[in-house]
This record gives sequence, C-alpha cells and structure tokens, in this order.
Amino acid sequence: MRAAIFVEPNGPMSVEDVTPTDPGPRDVVVRITASGVCHSDLHVISGALPMPPPAILGHEGAGIVEAVGAEVKGLAVGDRVIGSFIPACGVCWHCLRDESHLCDNTYTVMGSPRAVRADGTPLMTMTGLGTFAEYMTCDEMSLVKIETDVPDAQLALVGCGVTTGVGAALNTAKVQPGDTVAVIGCGGVGQSVIQGARIAGASVIIAVDPVALKREAALGLGATHAVDPGEGDPVEQVKALTGGRGVDYAFEVIGLPATVAQAFDMARSGGAAVAVGVSHFTESITVPSFPLVLSEKRLLGCVYGSAQVRRDFPRLVGFVENGRLDLANMITRTLPLDDINEAFRAMTAGEVVRSVIV
Ligand SMILES: [Zn+2]
Ligand SMILES: [Zn+2]
Repeated sequence: MRAAIFVEPNGPMSVEDVTPTDPGPRDVVVRITASGVCHSDLHVISGALPMPPPAILGHEGAGIVEAVGAEVKGLAVGDRVIGSFIPACGVCWHCLRDESHLCDNTYTVMGSPRAVRADGTPLMTMTGLGTFAEYMTCDEMSLVKIETDVPDAQLALVGCGVTTGVGAALNTAKVQPGDTVAVIGCGGVGQSVIQGARIAGASVIIAVDPVALKREAALGLGATHAVDPGEGDPVEQVKALTGGRGVDYAFEVIGLPATVAQAFDMARSGGAAVAVGVSHFTESITVPSFPLVLSEKRLLGCVYGSAQVRRDFPRLVGFVENGRLDLANMITRTLPLDDINEAFRAMTAGEVVRSVIV
C-alpha cells in the first residue's frame, strides 16, 4: 500500500509503497477514504510532539472496514468507521468514569509496528492510527462505527479537529446559552470551537486570528465578531467587546504559552481560559497569581474535547446531518496522498482552514 512516511525532522514526508504487517486477533484493517491534515502531524515533524521517525503520520481519518481479527466483536467488514486518536477501551479506570479521552490504553495502541518499508524498517503509526495511507491496521478500541451518509472528507474531520473543538465548548467548558466566548486561533479546531459555542447558544463569539481568510470563515460559521491581533492588543479588543469585563471562556487553540496567557487575560473574573492547542512538550505555561486566586479565574486543560468518542462521534455526525454543524465550509481543499507535502506547506502558510487527503 502507499503511505506518507515521516522520515526526518523538519523534512518533507516520503510517499512510498510499504507492506502492512499482519493484523492481530483484536486488530481491524481499514481502507482509508479521507484523512484531514492537522497541526499535530506538523508537531511530530517539528519535534514539538516527540515521536521518532520513520512513522506513518495522520490521526484524523475515516474509512471502511476491510478485515477484522478473530477476537474483534464490535465491527464487521463493510462498516463505516472513524479513527479515534485516543482509544476508548471501555473498561479501564478512566473509561469507566466517562473519561475515555484519558483512556489508560492511549500509549498501548502506539506500541505496534503496522507496516514495513521496502528496506525492512518497521513503521510505527501516529497515535496507533496512521491515516496518511491507503489502509491502516489498528486496534478495535481505536475505531468507532458510524452509520451516516455524511461525505468521507467531512467525516474524517470528526476524528480530531471537530471533536476537539466542539468538545472543548460543549464538554470541557460546558458553554451555556448567553455565555461570551473568545477563540484564539481559527484553524480547523478553532472553527470547531466557534461552532460548538454557537450550538451551545453563546451570545458573543469572538474569533481572534491574524489571517483574514480564517476570520472570514469564522464569521460564516458562527462568530459574532472577529479580532485581528495585528490591529492592537487582542486582550483589549476582546474586553472592549464585552463591556470591559472579558469573556466567560477564552479558548487558546494554537499551543503557545504567550497566547495561553492572553486567553487567561481575556477571561472575566470568575471565567476560564481553556488550553486546547498543543504546546512544545518542553514548554511551561505561566499565568499571574493574583487573577488566578483573587479573581477566581480558572485555567482548564483540554484534550480531545473531553469527548467520549462512542457517545460524541454519533452526536457530532447528527449535528452535521441536521445542519447544525457545518463541516463542508471548513474544508478549504482536498488533495491526493501524493500531494501531502503541499498540504503541509499550505497549513504552515495559513492558507487553509483544513486540507483533506482523499
Ligand atoms: Zn489532530
Ligand atoms: Zn480505556
């Protein structure tokens, strides 16, 4: 099969023919129909997320089940599935407490080589998936069956960006009708936070991004205001739009300590900053102590939108089916696997909300 391989830090990916390893008894072989290109893939290439090459990247994908191992109980050949970049085993300590986004098997599923290069080198896969390929072999606990007619490219986005963003609003922050929200960084995840806030009934949704295309997309997807940080201090601009108080929830969707601090400053007294973006693994985030204590501001971490994927993937797809969640307008372009490096260039250049490999 063809797959895009991360071969060297900060270098281009190599699209090559590789040989899948034989699936185990609890594994499932999926024919990938669409795969979104996410900043976390870029973080692996840049070294912000530690993962040694060579590896098949891609963790936001949908597809069709081609084969199942002898012990697979919940999936059958022909099922339509979305890959979950954190598995949901259903039986670990966290899964039993509605915290499958913290599943104890998060790292277990990354431990098996899933293909071999022509020279015999084994290939690991990003988050146990590896969706930048024609096929992926993964553990059953990393897949969620979906019955829907939503197009493949849109379904793929549910695997990471949409679940992370909408979940950040609905699950992590629990935005309530009438709440005020700011979103720093309006790529695929940020646009999903905006849509989640709209679905929750937020009264004010402020999109903060230096790229005009992303601000315009945000206004089309539910933002009520757009702020260009190039036109003055974004904290002051957000406060000016909220009676000087700041917002109930400020989401940081870039992954930089400086913008997390901005989100903290944008939150009102008693409000919260929600850190959604993934920072370099060596970074620390610093917030001022007085507002934390005396203004009772909160700083919330958010992974995978605090989502319970077996509950939330179908819920999100339902929003799409009923016109409540617009994924079509989050997809700026679709490309073939051979153009994967062009997709990464466009993402780095800020030219796209989301590219999807089809
Ligand atoms: Zn992602
Ligand atoms: Zn679990």
